[in-house]
Amino acid sequence: MSHLILISAPSGSGKSTVIQQLMQDESLRLSFSISATSRPPRGNEQHGVEYYFYTPEQFKQLIAEDRLVEYVEVYPGKYYGTLRSEVDRLAAMGRNILFDVDAVGAMRIQEAYRDKVVSIFLMPPTFAELRRRLESRGTESPELVEERMRRASYEINFAEQFDHTVVNDDLELCVSQVAKIIQIGRAHV
Ligand code: ADP
Ligand code: 5GP
Repeated sequence: MSHLILISAPSGSGKSTVIQQLMQDESLRLSFSISATSRPPRGNEQHGVEYYFYTPEQFKQLIAEDRLVEYVEVYPGKYYGTLRSEVDRLAAMGRNILFDVDAVGAMRIQEAYRDKVVSIFLMPPTFAELRRRLESRGTESPELVEERMRRASYEINFAEQFDHTVVNDDLELCVSQVAKIIQIGRAHV
């Protein structure tokens, strides 16, 4: 039986880094749910790899056609959502599905698939370290760093609604803690 593993964290906490490492652990049998977004690609991101990239008009069409399990305007004018076709595609493979979604989207998926969900919120050690990581990544302008810091203050309020909270201070420790949660989640269902 496949499970839905939801991972949320304020942008810059290291969520993508943690997810990349988890995906390499074949014993976890994870497949990544590629989300749809109306934000433009960052760095070397490619359509169908990190995200399915759409124009704002195309994204509105997906909403109108009810092709999304959930969607959120995470940043002004930037929509992100989970495609029904993506969940169906991965569920048919019988593997655990890993979702990288914001806290609001995670709550919606959790409501929809309660018994199948294991939800994990990753925390940065401090706000100062979060800012340092966002700035050192160098992919956002100073204005976008501020936007993401504001969003982080909002998202952290949702942490207690997740099944588990893990602090990403030491990366290896964080990855092993999350891997253990995924393994236990599977064993208990
Ligand atoms: P997110 O996906 O949460 O936006 P990233 O995975 O892109 O964040 O990480 C943001 C930056 O922080 C990257 O430069 C990454 O290398 C760095 N980073 C990730 N985890 C840690 C950690 N545990 N300690 C220090 N730096 C980290
Ligand atoms: P980024 O622009 O850094 O890739 O992602 C910004 C935020 O959007 C992150 O918090 C990420 O988890 C969230 N996100 C990515 N895909 C989805 C999705 O399908 N649904 C929702 N609700 N949020 C998503």
